Amino acid sequence: AKKAAPNAILAPNFKFEDMGIGGLDTEFSAIFRRAFASRVFPPGLVDKLGIQHVKGILLFGPPGTGKTLMARQIGKMLNAREPKIVNGPEILNKYVGASEENVRKLFADAEKEYKAKGDESGLHIIIFDELDAICKQRGSTNNGTGVGDSVVNQLLSKMDGVDQLNNILLIGMTNRIDMIDEALLRPGRLEVHMEISLPDEHGRLQILTIHTSKMRNNKVMDPDVDLAELAAMTKNFSGAEINGLVKSAVSFAFNRHVKIGTMAGISDDIEDLRVNMDDFLRAME
Ligand code: ATP
Repeated sequence: AKKAAPNAILAPNFKFEDMGIGGLDTEFSAIFRRAFASRVFPPGLVDKLGIQHVKGILLFGPPGTGKTLMARQIGKMLNAREPKIVNGPEILNKYVGASEENVRKLFADAEKEYKAKGDESGLHIIIFDELDAICKQRGSTNNGTGVGDSVVNQLLSKMDGVDQLNNILLIGMTNRIDMIDEALLRPGRLEVHMEISLPDEHGRLQILTIHTSKMRNNKVMDPDVDLAELAAMTKNFSGAEINGLVKSAVSFAFNRHVKIGTMAGISDDIEDLRVNMDDFLRAME
């Protein structure tokens, strides 16, 4: 049997708190345990257990909740190669065969390195966003082109083919897990599924803290800004929307220093710019 050597090592001094992901610590540690721990075990132990590495995971949940962020940080944590990021619609191509070719190319680098170096090769991560887009047409009656079908099949054959490849990790992402072809979700394929949902109040506070850390450290945030209150007010906001809120608050602060009219420009007191609670409240509106 093929031995599963660790081809990822934990990045030195890795700390979850430094990753800039708010409110997903439970999810992160669950994914680590279920999907990656074996990659950093000593090789002897992996052999003794007789296990194979997880080759694929699926992150699902509403848009803007940090799925891409999480996938990228997982790569950093595991000292992986710079991930390849693709999305479903981008892979689909109206020309016959081109979509399958696009999928094939995704795996080419990892395959090449594995041929040359075997288990010594580094970990290659493929982030596949909007995975549902390639599944939509499979088996549906209004299937115009059948492109989706063959793309899913190509992906399946690549995933099954990577049986010998220990150096690949596919991270699929979707807002519509119900659309994902079941064949893709089986063991050996995208076998670990993790829901990334909207942040709760505690998570929102963490995200607000992350996205205002620079302005706080650089003292351009007014001490009157009450992040806990904002966390309470932003029910149903995604991480991306919280990020948008912070940007919008900055633009309200900025407005105080922009002169419009014949002498349009920036006012002299620009150095005094402070983002205050009122800016956040206006941004909320
Ligand atoms: P989509 O389904 O639309 O692709 P996504 O879940 O992949 O969305 P991201 O692209 O990871 O979302 O998030 C967009 C941006 O929103 C991030 O770059 C980050 O700035 C912010 N963000 C989202 N979630 C979080 C979070 N949990 N912690 C910190 N920032 C977040």
